Amino acid sequence: MKNSLKFVLILFIIQSTLSAQNYKQQLNTIDIQNYKLAISVNDTTNSIDANMIVSLKFKKTVQEFQLDLVKKDSISGKGMVIDSIYQNNIKIAFTHTNNKVIIQPKHVFPGIKYTYTIKYHGIPADGLIIGENMYGDRTFFSDNWPNRAQHWFPCVDHPSDKATVEYIIEAPNYYQTIANGFLVEETNLNNYTKQYHWKTSVPIPTKVMVIGIAKFAIQNIGLTHHIPVSTWVYPQNKEHGFYDFSTAKNILSFFIETIGEYPYQKLANVQSKTRFGGMENASAIFYFEKSVTGELEHEDLIAHEIAHQWFGNSASEIDWPHLWLSEGFATYLTDIYILKFKGEKEFINRLKSERTTVFNFYKKVQKPVIDTKTTNYMQLLNANSYQKGAWVLHMLRNKLGDEIFWKGIRTYYSTYKFSNASTTNFKDVMSKVSGKNLDIFFTQWLQKSGHPILKSDWIYFNNKVRLIIDQTQETAFQFSLDLELIYKDGSSEIKTIEVSDKSSPFVIDTSGEVTSINFDPNINLLYELDGN
Ligand SMILES: [Zn+2]
Repeated sequence: MKNSLKFVLILFIIQSTLSAQNYKQQLNTIDIQNYKLAISVNDTTNSIDANMIVSLKFKKTVQEFQLDLVKKDSISGKGMVIDSIYQNNIKIAFTHTNNKVIIQPKHVFPGIKYTYTIKYHGIPADGLIIGENMYGDRTFFSDNWPNRAQHWFPCVDHPSDKATVEYIIEAPNYYQTIANGFLVEETNLNNYTKQYHWKTSVPIPTKVMVIGIAKFAIQNIGLTHHIPVSTWVYPQNKEHGFYDFSTAKNILSFFIETIGEYPYQKLANVQSKTRFGGMENASAIFYFEKSVTGELEHEDLIAHEIAHQWFGNSASEIDWPHLWLSEGFATYLTDIYILKFKGEKEFINRLKSERTTVFNFYKKVQKPVIDTKTTNYMQLLNANSYQKGAWVLHMLRNKLGDEIFWKGIRTYYSTYKFSNASTTNFKDVMSKVSGKNLDIFFTQWLQKSGHPILKSDWIYFNNKVRLIIDQTQETAFQFSLDLELIYKDGSSEIKTIEVSDKSSPFVIDTSGEVTSINFDPNINLLYELDGN
């Protein structure tokens, strides 16, 4: 996803209640197979009526298990109330406290699929946003990241428990609905109500499960690589929206050709009320309301969200501290898309700007990219996960070369698609494909905070440059540094040195008198010059 800045402050406050939740118990106990959610919405109240059939397997014999569901709060009146829970046809006991539904199952055998039917109702405090859009029209848009799905349906709200999902949506018949997967049924129930049934064929994490109910103008753009691409915008924005999102087809083709087969059955780009700039919901990407301008202003945002369909949605991070596997990938793949379609200059400009963002963030927050201490997941939407993550991939690409790098990225994707990976899993794939030990590279850039901050001094004498490089940051990094030697006659030459110590002297042979040296002329290294 991409943040839209004005909402960041609000997010921190809202999020704090759910972020520090411990998922260990659930992840060790159950594995959700499928969510089948029947949900009914109306225009009279913001209350939903829902019936969730959750299929799951037990990982061990237990007396009880837990699902996440935010309980009705007596002060705000918002939250969910459970009416009943059945295991097959047998009513079973449960408690609902601290936003956890604790269920006592009957006759548990590990490995066998059980289904639980949970009937509930209430006004969602978050997660499913019901209200007016910027034109005053009523809309229903879910917005789950990172763990806000539990505001509107019972689930294991963690990226590592993926499941297939179905939504049977009942809504007034003047609305259209969009959701993950494909539309298997659309029926007029009576003169006023319509039923839509959406279904995914592959498992996805709750963070990218989504429904949208609104009056839409819909355009089918066509197929690319057999995948239908469509645009869903507010009718008032039809002309501009259809134009802006038509670029999605080309972006989708490019990523399919770069990474591999697209994981889902369709791609819909949807104007919505997401609090983020864009939210990469699986196969139904939501964009902020004002993303539609008719001037293709947000092509890079569209590319970022489409790249997430592979990285983040399909090959997902195992846990939130590994978020860079999602955001760093989407950021760098957008840069690569820009390189292909806008050229080298624009690509370099983006890298420079991302590098500056990393430095500015580091001045305020000294944390590693893999940040296991932050429990407010919204705070992980930062320059470490996005820009520094992208720079790690950029440096890895320079280190391994294009051919090996892309082979590694494709292998990583095909190994972990529809599944989850840690940073170590990614490192192991890249090491295996390249035949290189990447331990130091991954440790220094991802598990330590900071980056090289260099001081240098040099003299030229008799066809040699004598150069001293000092690393002034706390711990020494190991890296290749390109030096562009500028000769007196105006010509230049690039030499590469390997830096590993806090202070290293180098003697470089030259083919003439050197008048100046440009460090890192091709923007290959995440480093700063001391004093900048
Ligand atoms: Zn993103």
